[in-house]
Amino acid sequence: MKNIFTAVEIITAKRDKYELSDDQIDWTIQAYTQGEIADEQMSALLMAILLNGMTSRETSRWTDAMIASGERMNWSMLDRPTVDKHSTGGVGDKITLPLAPLVAACGAAVPQLSGRGLGHTGGTLDKLESIQGWQASITNQKMLEILKGCGAVICAAGSGLAPADKKLYALRDVTGTVPAIPLIASSIMSKKIAEGTQALVLDVKTGSGAFMSDPKDSALLAKTMVELGKSAGVPTRALVTAMDVPLGLTVGNALEVRESIEVLSGGGPADVVELTLILANEMLDAAKVKPKMDPASALKNGAAMDVWRKMISAQGGDLSASLPVAKEKMQIKAERSGKLLTLDALKVGVCAWKLGAGRQKQGDSLQLGAGIEIHAKPGDLIKEGQPVLTLHSDNSTKFDAALSALSGAFSIGSENEKISKLPLVIERIEG
Ligand code: URA
Repeated sequence: MKNIFTAVEIITAKRDKYELSDDQIDWTIQAYTQGEIADEQMSALLMAILLNGMTSRETSRWTDAMIASGERMNWSMLDRPTVDKHSTGGVGDKITLPLAPLVAACGAAVPQLSGRGLGHTGGTLDKLESIQGWQASITNQKMLEILKGCGAVICAAGSGLAPADKKLYALRDVTGTVPAIPLIASSIMSKKIAEGTQALVLDVKTGSGAFMSDPKDSALLAKTMVELGKSAGVPTRALVTAMDVPLGLTVGNALEVRESIEVLSGGGPADVVELTLILANEMLDAAKVKPKMDPASALKNGAAMDVWRKMISAQGGDLSASLPVAKEKMQIKAERSGKLLTLDALKVGVCAWKLGAGRQKQGDSLQLGAGIEIHAKPGDLIKEGQPVLTLHSDNSTKFDAALSALSGAFSIGSENEKISKLPLVIERIEG
């Protein structure tokens, strides 16, 4: 594209609350990706967008321009429809692990490009890397082979997918411009649309452990992403779901893989099973697939487990090898008998991170066995001296910092006190 604009005129237009034209947006994304707009100029523009917002037309064009910055994958050669799920991330959110093979067992194909964890929220690729030999990075050809052979694949996005977003996200991270709904929505949706899925279900988390803690903000983000999916021709629906309490009974990479395998074996914690089934039904419906069997049966009869085994082995994972186990453990016990009233997702997530389950910055290594086992959830009765949590880490020196992160993370009241927690599904949004 010719140099028809200057960065300064785009910045001043947004600063003065004008709407950017399609050509201005296309030029901005292309020029920035090619290094023709300096980081300091793009930082100023991102801050103007954070402060002044973007119209839905601008957000949609910004998303299209980011998709056009790289390759767009295509799975139309498969003999079944594709559908994917994206979660905005939370504490103990291991749902992708049982969900992808489950949906494949029921008849859809799931091409899932996943990410790594940063800070207190975990990443699917880190969790799967606790399985010995499992490789996150594979070629597009291998991705297709696995999709054909297993019906589901979970892997890292290649560098060719939405490169504009990679550059912009890194800049937003260091300029305080991550929490702008048009920027978050376009960042997530550009990658999901470029991934080539034919239908999409979004799990937008809300509560202390989520990216957005206010359900109204989460619903606005969900609506913005559903609209973007619709205008790109990808049927998209979203659920706003609870992340005030950790999901399931484990937080940390290998611990969460263990729990996912329990779900695939027909067991597992009730909230993880319930959300997995709700999302599986939404995905099959969004993909317009008449399920070969109902998702609850596919968890019970081993069909989803069969897909999981094939899918993990296809990427070199050895399911007969033991999962990593942390060297040290510490129990946190109840100081009184009563009912567990609260268990704060953010504090539990930060504690797991301090134990070694998460990274401080991109590229840091993880302790795959580190994390937290949860022995009681809000509403459960507990006796004085019983364990509420077990902390796992390879270094006992990490326990002090982890314990201070846990201060006020849970409370115990009398047996007849009411608990206050969000319902698992708060809102459903369909375009
Ligand atoms: N995840 C993304 O991929 N992008 C954002 O902007 C925020 C979360």
